Amino acid sequence: MISFNVPPYVGKEQEYIAEAIAAHKICGDGAFTKKCNKWIEDKTGVSKALLTTACSTALDMAAILTEVGPGDEVILPSFTFVSTANAFVLRGATLVFTDIRPDTQNIDEKLIEDAITDRTKVIVPVHYAGVGCEMDTIMDIAKRHDILVVEDAAQGVMSTYKGRALGSIGDYGCYSFHETKNYSMGEGGALLIKDEGKVDRAEIIREKGTDRSKFLRGVVDKYTWVDMGSSYLPSEMNAAYLYAQLEEADTINNSRLASWNAYYEMLSPLAEEGRIELPVIPEECKHNAHMFYIKTKDIEERSDLASFLKENGILAVFHYVPLHSAPAGSRFGRFHGEDRYTTNTFERLLRLPMFYGLSLDQTEFISDKIKEFYRNR
Ligand SMILES: *Cc1c(COP(=O)(O)O)cnc(C)c1O
Repeated sequence: MISFNVPPYVGKEQEYIAEAIAAHKICGDGAFTKKCNKWIEDKTGVSKALLTTACSTALDMAAILTEVGPGDEVILPSFTFVSTANAFVLRGATLVFTDIRPDTQNIDEKLIEDAITDRTKVIVPVHYAGVGCEMDTIMDIAKRHDILVVEDAAQGVMSTYKGRALGSIGDYGCYSFHETKNYSMGEGGALLIKDEGKVDRAEIIREKGTDRSKFLRGVVDKYTWVDMGSSYLPSEMNAAYLYAQLEEADTINNSRLASWNAYYEMLSPLAEEGRIELPVIPEECKHNAHMFYIKTKDIEERSDLASFLKENGILAVFHYVPLHSAPAGSRFGRFHGEDRYTTNTFERLLRLPMFYGLSLDQTEFISDKIKEFYRNR
């Protein structure tokens, strides 16, 4: 059986976790958390990166920092994971879903301006499959309308848009280190903060609304409750696991890209015959091979292909139920404009196995099976 995902493991994780335990520092913000924060800061150029317990909680923190509230509107794609939306629902904001582009499955930047009202406070581009949204256009719209940008870069660690790291372009960026992502700590994430002036408040929100971070740095002589917040710090043992992988980020990235390129090459003939569609990577974007997906003709063909692959020991999966058609979606928001590609993509997209350690033999076997399916169809 070829799994859809295998959590990444490079070899030093256990040693680093043992180090964290031996240092008698297993709660948040120990040496490994600081090393991970610094690695992200060096890689992306943001003022501050803070490890969090999930990308979902990094999004929650970003939503608090944007100060959205009831009556305010947030523009996001409907084709995304629920956490993108939940963070703003928890603040009482109204969601305005827009359609995606059929090539990258990212928010269609040309539809954003029409969705803006005088209540729009935030735009949330989601970098699907680690391929950057059209950020220059989005940042320009945001600037002209005085709107903040929170990048959901859960899938975008190590990806760039015009040479800039995903997650470092908007006001805030959110990474995921869940076990299904390229670099993992089991459950975890990070908040990236562009503006130095927002760092203090972010640290306070992450430390249960206290100024404990300042206290630990010796800036204040006692710590106290100064703002709203919660516990968004991951444990050192999780950070230790992650740091082992960040040290090997290029190895992991190159290996995933090799799998991705192998799929692309082997499946190209089917795309040229017009049987399937392959992912499109815009020239401005360098991606991280987070995902390899194909698009079939329709939902029926997708189901048949997924079943055929399963019979042959290959697990292929699909997502996302469009948020605007989910029960909570209609309660907390509305779809603006026409749904040309969101539902269509949900029905046709199939994700193939993709993980660190997937072998070329496996990508070849999977590609051959897909070709066999289409030969007999
Ligand atoms: C994985 C993912 C999340 C959530 O990440 P967690 O770390 O599991 O909270 C949010 N948004 C997108 C687009 C994701 O892919």
